[in-house]
Amino acid sequence: MNNKLLLDNLRCIPDWPKKGINFRDVTTLFKNPECIKTITDEMCEIYKDKGITKIVGIESRGFVMSSAVAIRLGAGIVLCRKPGKLPCETVQESYKKEYGTDTIEIHKDSINEDDVVLLHDDLLATGGTMKAACDLVKKFNPKKIYANFIIELVNEDLNGRAAFDKDIEISTLIQV
Ligand code: IMP
Repeated sequence: MNNKLLLDNLRCIPDWPKKGINFRDVTTLFKNPECIKTITDEMCEIYKDKGITKIVGIESRGFVMSSAVAIRLGAGIVLCRKPGKLPCETVQESYKKEYGTDTIEIHKDSINEDDVVLLHDDLLATGGTMKAACDLVKKFNPKKIYANFIIELVNEDLNGRAAFDKDIEISTLIQV
């Protein structure tokens, strides 16, 4: 379901943050009330019967739609952040990037074994960030894990979906 409204409103910034990268800028979707309603509607349609109890938003563009969808689905929101931003005890996961490693973390008391968890980020490229977030959430042994993105890059031979374990159900709203 490649939504035309979302595709038409997505801005692409060539050579940002460095030469050769075509940056898909979701802020043009976030500032448009019709677009955020469409994203919320489509995500809620996908997840309305899944019993989602927690939505994990990935810093920082993943926070935006996580909030809207959590309110509609009656779920709680968990922040997945870079190190040093969360004030209480955390659980961490490190992952390899193109250059060096990155770490993400969530609060230790944020997810339990009864939770059905939806992780959300704006964009799927190599899948490295979300795979690490899924591995982090798996440490809490929740009943089920889903992952959702607004945008999936499909034309750059990244094959981000291949990064994930088979038990994680992935959905994306637009493919570019
Ligand atoms: P991955 O880990 O390679 O899948 O990259 C996805 C992560 O990098 C997400 O957290 C995105 O927010 C960010 N990202 C990478 N490329 C873009 C882009 O073109 N637009 C917006 N975010 C991007």
